[in-house]
Formats: sequence, structure tokens, C-alpha cells
Amino acid sequence: MALIIDGKAVSASVRARVAKETALIKEKGVTPGLAVIIAGDDPASRVYVNNKKKACAEVGFLSEEYALPAEVTQEELLALVEELNHRKDISGILCQLPLPKHLDEKAVIEAISPLKDVDAFHPSNVGRIMIGDYHFLPCTPAGVMELLAWANADISGKECVVIGRSNIVGKPMSMLLLHKHGTVTVCHSRTKDLGEVTRRADILVAAVGIPKFVKGDMIKEGAVVIDVGMNRDENGKLCGDVDFAQVEPKASAITPVPGGVGPMTIAMLMQNTLMAAKIQNGLD
Ligand code: NAP
Repeated sequence: MALIIDGKAVSASVRARVAKETALIKEKGVTPGLAVIIAGDDPASRVYVNNKKKACAEVGFLSEEYALPAEVTQEELLALVEELNHRKDISGILCQLPLPKHLDEKAVIEAISPLKDVDAFHPSNVGRIMIGDYHFLPCTPAGVMELLAWANADISGKECVVIGRSNIVGKPMSMLLLHKHGTVTVCHSRTKDLGEVTRRADILVAAVGIPKFVKGDMIKEGAVVIDVGMNRDENGKLCGDVDFAQVEPKASAITPVPGGVGPMTIAMLMQNTLMAAKIQNGLD
């Protein structure tokens, strides 16, 4: 039986660590503050924003929400980012994506000060991750690394396969595994004979966005399997990219969906916001 990697427990311990450190820096007069910008009324984005606000309150951060109408102009949005960049009480700025279609996401991401970019999407932070000299890591891949550490997964010298090459998950994920000395292969929709590659994996990370895509015959016996996917199955039930029922018996450790990678993302956002407050106040 595989070890079930308990994302809820690991997330709670990261948030407890952040809360403890927050209490300490508050004694020095510094309160981390997160500004969350949401444009339009996408219901999924609304849920994410509410969860982020709740997490901020739990760890003792100030949080501010800027709910902008769907028709907000690029100039108005950039002016808000600029104002937040200069606010001393705001340590981190997050713009909930996707933005309404008429807005230029790239320009908004690049307008956020790299020192307040707690999503780590700014090109300057992406470049820092590449060279291994970073302030923040993107929340989801950073959460996966916490889960691998919790599961005592040995990465050094191991075959690590990442399915997916998105800028927010697959690419940074592969870089973090490389920094930990994994031998990393990144797969995507043009990869030939995917199963042949994934069967080599000691550590397999699936970030594909297709329900139950990774089947039992794609897994090496004893692999550690991390499922980043958040999809709906044919009955509307939340499910991952991994066919858990088929894969779990072959894996040595595996994340469930829900309760695996999902809860880590917000925990790592809290960690990044704390780090931002420390850097901006010379406490790092
Ligand atoms: P994405 O931008 O759509 O990227 C999906 C990747 O999968 C792409 O690189 C794509 O290849 C690859 N792919 C698609 N079909 C494939 C196939 N048949 N064989 C091999 N590779 C294939 O998705 P994402 O933003 O990275 O998210 C991936 C999943 O993680 C989604 O389910 C998302 O909801 C979830 N997610 C969860 C969290 C969390 O907090 N747990 C956070 C972010 C994302 P190409 O590049 O060639 O198109």
C-alpha cells in the first residue's frame, strides 16, 4: 500500500510555521499584507480569492481585496498595481488570473514589483528561479517540493518526470527538481510514447489538466506520484490527472485529489508573503 501524502496536514504545518513567524515579526512592528486583485466575476476565481483572504486572517496578515468590474481598463488596473507597489503596508500583490480577455495579463504581471510578486510570475523572478537565486518560488511547484520532503522522497540522482510544461506548474516544477539534483524529463502533448518515458520515473509529477490521464500501466513499481491536476470527472466530482485507483497499488507514495497538492498552494502563498514582508523590512 502506498503512503498517502497528506496535503492538508502538510499545509496546516506550513501555515502554523508562517503564523508563528508572523507573530514574531509583528513584535518588531511589521505586519505582512497581501493585496488580491480580482477583475470580473469568474466564480472559480471568487472562491480562490475568498480562500486566500481566509488564510491571511488565520496566519495574522493584513489582506485587502480589490474587486474590479469586468470592464475595468488596462490603465485603471495598472494604476492600481502602481499604487500598491508603493504602499509600505502591502508586502505582496496578487492578480487573480485569468483576467477578462481585453486586459493584457503579461503587462499586468510585469507591472508588479518583483519584490511584491508573491506568485513568482514576473520574468525577473522566473529568471531568478532558473539560476537558483530566488526570493519566491511559484506556489504550486513549491508546495509539491514540501510534499516530497514530507514523504522523505529522495530526489538526488533519481529519474524525475514532469508531465506538463506550463509556465505556472510544469516548467518551474522541472527546475526545482533539477535544483535538487534530479535527472529531469519534461513531457507534453508532442511527447512520443509517453508511457515509455513515465515508466522510467522514480518521481512522477502530473500537471496535464486531463481527468485520470495517468494510468497504472504508465507507472514504475515503487514510484512517488504527485498529482497536480484539479479537474471534474464525468459526474462533476473533483479529480486529478492520475487514475488513483489504478496507480496507487503500484506507487510507494501518492497524493490524493482532493487533499494533496491543492491545499499546499495557498500555504506557500502565505509563506511567500511573509518572505516578502521580511525582505522589504530588512528582516530576511
Ligand atoms: P496547462 O497550462 O493547460 O498545461 C497543461 C500541460 O499538459 C501542457 O504543457 C500540455 O502540453 C500538457 N498536455 C496536454 N495534453 C497532454 C497529453 N495528451 N500528453 C502529454 N502532455 C499533455 O495546465 P496547468 O496550468 O499547468 O495545470 C495543469 C493541471 O494542474 C490542471 O488540472 C490545473 O487545474 C491544475 N492546477 C492545480 C493547481 C493546484 O493548486 N493544485 C495549481 C495550478 C494548476 P503542451 O504544452 O504541448 O500543450
